[in-house]
Amino acid sequence: MPELPEVETVRRGLAPVMEGARFDKVEAHRGDLRWPLPKDFVKRLEGRSVIGLGRRAKYLLADLSSGDVLVMHLGMSGSFRVLRADHEATPGAHYHERSKALAHDHVVFQMSSGATVSFNDPRRFGSMKLVPRAALDAEPLLRALGPEPLGNTFSAAMLAEACHGKRTSLKAALSDQKIVAGLGNIYVCEALNRAHVSPKRMASTVAMRSGAPHERAVRLVDAIKAVLNDAIAAGGSSLRDHRRTDGSLGDFQHNFRVYDREGQQCPTPGCKGTIRRIVQTGRSTFYCPVCQK
Ligand SMILES: [Zn+2]
Repeated sequence: MPELPEVETVRRGLAPVMEGARFDKVEAHRGDLRWPLPKDFVKRLEGRSVIGLGRRAKYLLADLSSGDVLVMHLGMSGSFRVLRADHEATPGAHYHERSKALAHDHVVFQMSSGATVSFNDPRRFGSMKLVPRAALDAEPLLRALGPEPLGNTFSAAMLAEACHGKRTSLKAALSDQKIVAGLGNIYVCEALNRAHVSPKRMASTVAMRSGAPHERAVRLVDAIKAVLNDAIAAGGSSLRDHRRTDGSLGDFQHNFRVYDREGQQCPTPGCKGTIRRIVQTGRSTFYCPVCQK
């Protein structure tokens, strides 16, 4: 599933053709993705303009001139493709060919910018929802989300407070969208390695008894921000399904330190450890048992 850097990469790919542009024509080829589309989906979009395209955690938020916000989620396999008259992204030019593209192009936006933006989602775990802007804070999809990890408010003190007394693993805590939003398996593993903190450590140990942040909370927050920024700069990571909106692939996967590197040497300078894979809450965790304490 795409994590924050992949969704941010998609946002940056869509913004130039969607921001300031009007939905001239909207086609919904089926009535549902993960959930049913709003009944008046097409009517509430056509003729409206996108004022701004933002992101909250793994959700894309298109602010519309009507006062609605189009809330979009890529799910497991969703992707957008942008076609322009002068620039057709050709998926066949890349090694993950987007086969059966048309059959899975469920929603197509023809924008006044001249671009056609199509949402393709073979597994249909993606979603699109229209929410009045005034109701956005109360929107169930967004309401429970924790802080944005790249936002100014996300700090060691905040992480310590959220984890204080929490008797789950740090891996599970950092994957919890209520504690910090947008992280998943890959970037949690990567951040823990960069911070030299074990994924098996109890979450409560990022806080002192008083609730003040332990020094490892500071290292973790720094590592989370750094890995996300590096991944965004690389255009996200491409595993099976994620691709940039021009059809090309992000390449942060070549910079993974531990993820999917079981049996390889730990990249921490001076560390002689070997990356190990364990299973935590049903998901693979990759870490170095030598330098991650
Ligand atoms: Zn190591």
